[in-house]
Amino acid sequence: MALHDLILVLNCGSSSLKGAVLDAHGDTLLLGCLAEKLGTAEALMTFKDENGKRSVALAAPGDHHTAVAALLAELQRLDLQARIAAVGHRVVHGGERFSASTLIDDAVLADIEACIPLAPLHNPAHVAGIRAARDAFPQLPQVAVFDTAFHQTLPEHAYRYAVPDALYCQHGVRRYGFHGTSYRYVAAESARLLGRDMAGLGLVIAHLGNGASVCAVRNGQSQDTSMGLTPLEGLVMGTRSGDIDPAIYPFLQANTGMDLAAINRMLNHESGLLGLSGLSNDCRTLEAAAAEGHAGAQLALAVFAYRLAKYIAAMAVAAGRLDALVFTGGIGENSELIRAQALQHLQVLGFVLDEAANSAARFGAAGIITAEGSTPLALVVPTNEEAMIARDTARLSQIQAA
Ligand code: AMP
Repeated sequence: MALHDLILVLNCGSSSLKGAVLDAHGDTLLLGCLAEKLGTAEALMTFKDENGKRSVALAAPGDHHTAVAALLAELQRLDLQARIAAVGHRVVHGGERFSASTLIDDAVLADIEACIPLAPLHNPAHVAGIRAARDAFPQLPQVAVFDTAFHQTLPEHAYRYAVPDALYCQHGVRRYGFHGTSYRYVAAESARLLGRDMAGLGLVIAHLGNGASVCAVRNGQSQDTSMGLTPLEGLVMGTRSGDIDPAIYPFLQANTGMDLAAINRMLNHESGLLGLSGLSNDCRTLEAAAAEGHAGAQLALAVFAYRLAKYIAAMAVAAGRLDALVFTGGIGENSELIRAQALQHLQVLGFVLDEAANSAARFGAAGIITAEGSTPLALVVPTNEEAMIARDTARLSQIQAA
């Protein structure tokens, strides 16, 4: 049995903990786990590996510490514990403090805590998860990998909002962007698929999942992205509105009596594909309903695809040159309908869709979906954020050991 050859990746949400045990290249998944309903009496953890799925109830208090302790017990049971070399943590917000993944020490943990006002739903859970993992694996290096870090290369004209300067200087009101770990992985995979060096390459990547954004990448660096101070800005998403006239807040307050919290909840949780369709936030469900003639589902998909195309064109400006458009995320990797509708709008940029290739690039298959001679190209490249976190964690842990 090899010692210290595996990485544990943790992604802690406010009531959930996702874990994965991977090799140091992030290529092989040995064990996956998901703890749900943390903080309640029904807290439950499910493990999945080549032998199938099994669940255990988490004893009180059923929090992140309990979940990490249950994971540690499972690793011991499977004889994997001694092989874990380091722990990598997904962290949503690193503010302007973090422009790359980093080894976690007390100062780094304090800085992640200091970013809580920017991500009040996410960063507290990450801090709890990091503390629990440090207690459970006190001898192992721990690494933080930030969703925002990749976008710290945005030029100031892309990240500043046109609001009074003091809001930026005193409160950090600026565009940060998210999905950065996915963009970093997909940019590298796209260059590999194209047989191109990252230097000189201009990409627009559309990460389309339940949350969705687009990013302009030039020379391997993020130039602009559609999400902003929070993940609400930009594209139409599963339940988020994306861009909207900010004057909707006083308008709704005056005309419906909704308060700020209610409007914010509506824009984040009751809008997007769900709000438009009145049916579902799930693209697959909407495609099936649209095919049956459901007008709300048809409208929701049409608005999603049109907003996406508009943003892709805008990101081409940010990239400065457009060699390829890349689709990723659950919708980007699987929905030939959304890809076809977006590329229909984008004919103005020269895309020519290959319908057979578009139908074939699904369910984990990567490939070029534009016709021979189309410039720019369009590709499908499956994302793998866990692999990226595992690789960063392995790399930084070795630096510490050297
Ligand atoms: P993610 O958040 O990346 O897991 O993506 C979730 C989204 O991907 C949901 O809207 C799913 O409906 C969508 N999705 C997954 N598989 C398919 C599919 N075969 N066709 C269309 N959409 C899909």
